[in-house]
Amino acid sequence: GWRSRAAFKLIELDDRFHLIRPGMRVVDLGAAPGGWTQVAVKRGASHVVGVDLLPVDPVAGATILEGDFNDPDLPGKLTDLLGGPADLVLSDMAPNTTGHAPTDHLRILGLAELALDFALKVLAPGGTFVAKVFQGGSEKQMLEPMKHAFATVRHAKPPASRKESSELYVVATGFRPDRVLPSQ
Ligand code: SAM
Repeated sequence: GWRSRAAFKLIELDDRFHLIRPGMRVVDLGAAPGGWTQVAVKRGASHVVGVDLLPVDPVAGATILEGDFNDPDLPGKLTDLLGGPADLVLSDMAPNTTGHAPTDHLRILGLAELALDFALKVLAPGGTFVAKVFQGGSEKQMLEPMKHAFATVRHAKPPASRKESSELYVVATGFRPDRVLPSQ
């Protein structure tokens, strides 16, 4: 069985956007307790690395790294573990919630922006980036660099994401390394 209800969000995103293909190299940022990592393996990715601050029970077919995804050694380590640049970078990262919605939203967006910087470093040409964001204006900050560096940028609210939550996912496909803005 799946370890998290969150697993269904990735299943729904994948059914709609066909993100995971056999043989892919996948990075799952904010992997605990491991649901998305399980889905990536189950859907045929050949190399899957899950990263989280929290420990994650082993997932057959995947490698788990315990630590902060901002660790400057991580991109290099990952390329070694994956055997090459990533085809898909997933981020379902969320900080501990404060209960103060505006603060929580800003923190999630901060993580998503850092996840984008990370993805720009490790993705192969044509690669895909998926991140949890929030409905609301400040998300525009990451939209411009994304629209530059990816062929398509879409948003989706998978049915498994609770209606009352303003959580949503950005799905950017067709990475073009030559179009990364210098500020990134
Ligand atoms: N997708 C997961 C699943 O299906 O099981 C659920 C992920 S959970 C919503 C968000 C995770 O992001 C938490 O486990 C948290 O520890 C992790 N996280 C938050 N900040 C992080 C960071 N800086 N580095 C690594 N993981 C982080």
